[in-house]
Amino acid sequence: MIKENVARILKDIPKTVELVGAAKTRSSSEMLEALEGGLHIIGHNYVKEAELAFQAIGDRAKWHMIGHLQSNKAKKAVALFDMIETVDSFKLAKAIDKASLKHAKSMPILIEINSAEEGQKPGVLPINTISLVEKISQLKNIKIMGLMTMGPATSNQEDCRPYFSRVCRLFEELKRKDNKAFEMRYLSMGMSSSYQVAIEEGANIIRLGTKLFGPRAQIKTGV
Ligand SMILES: *Cc1c(COP(=O)(O)O)cnc(C)c1O
Repeated sequence: MIKENVARILKDIPKTVELVGAAKTRSSSEMLEALEGGLHIIGHNYVKEAELAFQAIGDRAKWHMIGHLQSNKAKKAVALFDMIETVDSFKLAKAIDKASLKHAKSMPILIEINSAEEGQKPGVLPINTISLVEKISQLKNIKIMGLMTMGPATSNQEDCRPYFSRVCRLFEELKRKDNKAFEMRYLSMGMSSSYQVAIEEGANIIRLGTKLFGPRAQIKTGV
């Protein structure tokens, strides 16, 4: 089923949109099945679980960190992931920068925005986004490549639209600055319940879990 789900979604979405398989709680054999269906990018929320899955899958996929990252795990995250989608503070960016220098790597990252401005949720507030991007962009071993957001927790995707649209406007505003220190190439928005609206509002990365792998057991997602 997973293989067919992936193939169907890939057929449905525009070719310009990249699909990330949000793989928290999934086994490496489920991830491999998704790769057989044409998935290229695995997104993980936890460094430890991702390391285990990486042992089984390795370079057959690209790896995106999509969960909240603590600064003290930056070293491991830099070693493993091809992109960290969830950078939301200068402190975390500095830890990633330092680890990247050791790996002789320029780490691609996205800036995570708390678009629904929900109290305890990770992400920088929309109003602080531009200054954070400009500050982080001065770090030498980090490559800002775009923005990411979760949107509000809701089962009605229309409720997400104004938040996705706001993040897209920030994305466009940053792009217009034409600042060589950062790039605005990727806009990562939309999950299983909201990806259609996210694409309409400009997303070119969507992150799907349930829609590809089926329902997951209730767990704390760490996001
Ligand atoms: C789990 C998760 C997703 C996917 O959620 P689904 O509703 O299962 O599609 C997307 N993004 C992040 C950051 C996640 O943690």
